[in-house]
Amino acid sequence: MAPSTEFPGNLFYAITFFGFMAFFVYSVGIRFHWFLRGQWVNRFTEPIRRALGLIPFVLGNARVARRKYWYSGTLHSLIFWGFIVLQVRTLNFLLNGIHEDASFESLLGDVYTIGLRPVMEAFNALVIVGVLMAAWQRFFWRPQRMTLNIDGWVCLGLIGWMMVTDIFTNSAEIALERPNHEWASFVAFGFAELWDGIGFSGQGMELFHVAWWYSHLVTFLVFLVYLPYSKHSHIITVAPSIFFRSLQPSGVLQPIKDFETAESFGVGKLEAFNWKQMLDSYTCTECGRCTAACPANITGKLLSPKEVIVDIRHLLEEQVRRLSPTTHRPEQPTPLIEEVGFEPIWDCVTCGACMYECPVFIEHVPTIIDMRRYLVMEESNMPETAQATLMQLEQRGHPWRGTQLTRTTWIEEMAAEGIEIPMFDGSQEHLLWVGCTGALQERNVKVTKATARLLLEAGVSFGVLGNEEGCSGDPARRLGNEYLFQMQAQGNIELFKAKGVQKLITMCPHCFNTMKHEYPQLDTDARSGHFEVIHHSLLLERLVAEGKLRPLSTNGLSEKIATYHDPCYLARHNDILDEPRRVLASTGAKTQEMTRRRKEAFCCGAGGSHVWMEESGGQRINNVRTEEAVETGADIIAVACPFCMQMFEDGVGAVPQAAEKEMQVLDLAELLDMSVSYSKPAAAAAPPADEPPAAEGEGAAAEGGE
Ligand code: SF4
Ligand code: SF4
Repeated sequence: MAPSTEFPGNLFYAITFFGFMAFFVYSVGIRFHWFLRGQWVNRFTEPIRRALGLIPFVLGNARVARRKYWYSGTLHSLIFWGFIVLQVRTLNFLLNGIHEDASFESLLGDVYTIGLRPVMEAFNALVIVGVLMAAWQRFFWRPQRMTLNIDGWVCLGLIGWMMVTDIFTNSAEIALERPNHEWASFVAFGFAELWDGIGFSGQGMELFHVAWWYSHLVTFLVFLVYLPYSKHSHIITVAPSIFFRSLQPSGVLQPIKDFETAESFGVGKLEAFNWKQMLDSYTCTECGRCTAACPANITGKLLSPKEVIVDIRHLLEEQVRRLSPTTHRPEQPTPLIEEVGFEPIWDCVTCGACMYECPVFIEHVPTIIDMRRYLVMEESNMPETAQATLMQLEQRGHPWRGTQLTRTTWIEEMAAEGIEIPMFDGSQEHLLWVGCTGALQERNVKVTKATARLLLEAGVSFGVLGNEEGCSGDPARRLGNEYLFQMQAQGNIELFKAKGVQKLITMCPHCFNTMKHEYPQLDTDARSGHFEVIHHSLLLERLVAEGKLRPLSTNGLSEKIATYHDPCYLARHNDILDEPRRVLASTGAKTQEMTRRRKEAFCCGAGGSHVWMEESGGQRINNVRTEEAVETGADIIAVACPFCMQMFEDGVGAVPQAAEKEMQVLDLAELLDMSVSYSKPAAAAAPPADEPPAAEGEGAAAEGGE
C-alpha cells in the first residue's frame, strides 16, 4: 500500500525517482568517462579467474575482515552484507511504489514473506548494529590510520537513517494492514505491536506511514546521488576495481613499450596514468591500512601510500569541475609531482606492504614507480645517492661503488682453498647466478662460497658466468630507469640463450623476482618457460629433504636461537614462506619468530634500491627491524637475501642491544653450511659451528666512488 500509487503521490514519485536516478547515472557516467581517458592497460585477461576473485574479495570481505582488523572488519561486513541482502527489499520497495502487483511480495507470495522477510529483517537490524559500531569507533576508539571527516558521518547517518525509515515504514504497514505472517518482519512487527498497545491507529497511523514511506524513498535517493561525490564511492567502484586487479605477483612492474615512439616516459601528469589507476583513486576507502603498514611512514618519513592515492583523486577533481563542483581550484593547476611530493616518491622501498594490506587491491608500487620513471627519464630529478647508483650501473655494470672485488675474486679464493668452481658452458643443469652483491661485497661473498660448497656436496650440476655476469637490472628498474633495465635484462636474456641456460639458481630475491616474472615481459621464449628461476632457499630445502645434504643435530647451532627475517621479495611478493623456515629448522638452531612476520613482515629498508640510498629522514628502517629481532631474544638473525644481510649488519652495529649481544647475521646457506656433515673435500672450507663467519661491518649505503 504505497502512497505513490495514487495522484499526486505517483507524480511526486515519478519526478523524484527519475530525477535522482538521472543525476546518479550522470555522476557515475562522467567519472567513468574520465577513467577511460587514462592510458590503455589490458585487464581483460583470464575473465573467469577475475570473476571468481569477486567471491572471496568482494562478497566474502576476505581482506577487509583480516583478524588484526576484526572490529573494522566486523562492522564493515555487517553493513556490506546487509546492503547486499537489502537490495531485494529496496527493489521491492521501488516496484511497490509503481504498482502493488509489480512488487516481489506480490509476485513471490510466501517465498518472499516467510522466506526472505525474516532474513532481511535480521540484516536490517545488523546494519544498524554495524553503523553504531562505526560511530563508536569514530568517537571513542579511532585508529590513527583513519581520517575523520564530515563525509564519513554523512554516509553513516544516511545508512542508519535508511534502516530506521525502512523499519518504521514496515511497522506502519503492519499496523494498518495486519497481513498474514506479520511476525516475519519481526522488528517492524514489534513496533506495530507497540503502536497498537499505545492506541496509535486510524488516520494518524496513515499519515505516519506516508511520512516514513517518503522519508525512506528520499533517504535512499539522496544516498544514491551522494555516493559518487563521497569517499564511499568505493561502493560503486569496488567490484570493477577488484575484477580488474593485477593478477601478477605484487612485486612485478610493467615495461614501457616502444621507447622509439613514446612521447614521454613515466607519469608526470594525470592523463599519463592508466584507466585502472584512475579507477583505483575512486576505490580507495581511505581506511589507512596501507599507511599503517608502510615502513617509510612508520619510521617518520613523508610517504603515506594512502595520500598518494587520495592525491590522484583530489587532482582529478581539481582539474575537472564536473567531478566535484565544490572543490577549491587554484589559479594554476597543481602539478602532479608537486601534489604527491618529491620525497614521498623516493621514500618508497617497494616492499609491497601497502598492496598486501589494501582491502581493495590498490596498486601503490607501480603508481609510485611510474612517477619515479618520469622524474628520472624526463627530468633527471632524483636524490643524489640514486643518481650516483644509476651512474655506477651505467658505467660499471654493477651498483657497488668503491668495491675492490671483481666478479671472479671469490672463484679465485675458492680455487686457492682447493675447490674448483665450474664455469657454465651449457653442459651443466643449473647456472648459479651470483649477483652483484654476492660477488662484490666481502660479507656476501661468504654466502656465495657457502652456497657453492653446499651445491658441490649435494652433487648439483652447476656452473657460473664469472666476468660474463652482469646486473639483473632490478636496481635500475626500481630506481625508475626503465631504459637501462631493459638493456641489462635483454643482454642477460641473450646470454642465457647463447649459453643454453635452462635452470638458474639465485641467492637474491630481487634477481629472482625480476628474472622469474619480469624477463618474460621482454622475451617470448622466456614466457613459454625458456628457463626456470630457483631461489637458493627452495633448492636447499629440497636437497635437505632428499637427503643430499645432511645437517648434524650435534653442531653448535642447537645452543643458539635464530629468528628468520622474511625478505619482501620472497615472502610478500612471491609467497615463499615455509621453505626458508624448514632450512633454518634443519640446521638444529632453536627458532623464535618476530611479531611482524611472513607476509606481514616489516621491510629491512633495502628494497627499491634503497640499499644504495640515504633515507630522507626519521628513524632508519633497518634499525627498527633490528630492534624487532632483538625483542625475540635471538642470537642470530637468519636472512635469505644479500640486501637484508647488508641492512642487518648495519643495524646490529647501530642498535646498542644488538651490538651488546653480539648478534650475528647469517644467511640460510651459511647456517646450513655450518651444520652439514661434509663428505667431500669442500668440508675443509666450512667454518666450525662455534666460529661463524665474522661480519665485515660494511655500511649499507656505500661511500666513495669507484
Ligand atoms: S611499497 Fe612499502 S614503502 Fe612503498 S608505499 Fe608501500 S608500504 Fe610504503
Ligand atoms: S589505498 Fe587501500 S589500504 Fe590504503 S587507504 Fe585506500 S583502501 Fe585503504
